[in-house]
Amino acid sequence: MTDQQRDRYARHLLLPGFGVEAQEKLLNSRVLLIGAGGLGSPTALYLVAAGIGNLTIIDHDTVDLSNLQRQILHRESDLGQPKVRSAQRELEALNSNCHLTLLEEPFTAKNAEELIADHDLVIDGSDNFTTRFLANDACYFGKKPLVYGSIFQFEGQLTLFDQHEQSPCYRCLVPQPPADGAVPNCLEAGVIGTLPGIIGSLQAMEAIKYLTGLGTPPRGKLVHYDALQTSFRELTINKDPHCPLCSADANIHSITSEAQASCQLEGSDSITALELQSISEEILLLDVREAAEFALGRIPGSQLTPLSQLKTGAIPALPFDHLIYVHCKAGTRSAQAIKILKEAGYSSLVNISDGYDGWSKIKPT
Ligand SMILES: [Zn+2]
Repeated sequence: MTDQQRDRYARHLLLPGFGVEAQEKLLNSRVLLIGAGGLGSPTALYLVAAGIGNLTIIDHDTVDLSNLQRQILHRESDLGQPKVRSAQRELEALNSNCHLTLLEEPFTAKNAEELIADHDLVIDGSDNFTTRFLANDACYFGKKPLVYGSIFQFEGQLTLFDQHEQSPCYRCLVPQPPADGAVPNCLEAGVIGTLPGIIGSLQAMEAIKYLTGLGTPPRGKLVHYDALQTSFRELTINKDPHCPLCSADANIHSITSEAQASCQLEGSDSITALELQSISEEILLLDVREAAEFALGRIPGSQLTPLSQLKTGAIPALPFDHLIYVHCKAGTRSAQAIKILKEAGYSSLVNISDGYDGWSKIKPT
């Protein structure tokens, strides 16, 4: 450790049981953070400040005005820009000794395995079930600890899945992803701005504890925080003897087979029509409804390729290197279309989860 590092981390070095040894563990650690949003912002800031040696952040979103109420890595001047860009600037300004890797791409079944293999610990700062299940499955197969956090309105949850034989996984708690739209996200239900600050800071704390070996990890414990009652509760998460992932009865045996099994939620990325609106660059947008529906109303710039046509094997020629956004009326047919397009060799596909219905509600008048 250099003299400068001794000065910077002086308050850590004074801590009982921490010392140079724990600090060096942090300096040599590699952490993967999924998401640079509400949870990811405080998590990244505290980890970088604490001296995590290598931090990789993966996020393919751009900064929206409605993010600034809670996503403290981003500034007004970052609106419309990739979140990883502002994350990099702020984190470099905080600690230039941290080796940062910023990936402006979605976390998918394709890149999950390799990314996880390259890190000591994974932090889920995502806000959707697709990513949450993917992170859980990929960390289970990759035997890497996963710090889980989630927030909803005035309440948050936190735990660490450490992949010990006796430890539960996220699917022991929630075996299957809920149907699209069944559980509202922050965008639909709202969230108090300080909440991700609290849960994200707890995630950073659990990461630091795990990496340094300090304290006791919340193994098999779900910590629940209720901001309105100012209360923390602990719930036991039992290992489910019939868990589809981590039990003897498991029917999920790899990241990809699961992705294929439920294409709608695992195999592809999905955004809402509202998020689609915040994309400023020109995009390739496929409308897989039928011609009569298209004639009645369409998202400007969309290209008609009915699902019925795709099912006959008539696949249009589309650029392979381009992200393709697919929508129907409400997200179900587009998920089927994505499955067909994947089989035809296209890989960069994004489902518009609420489809034309979602867009109709928010289209500019
Ligand atoms: Zn499990």
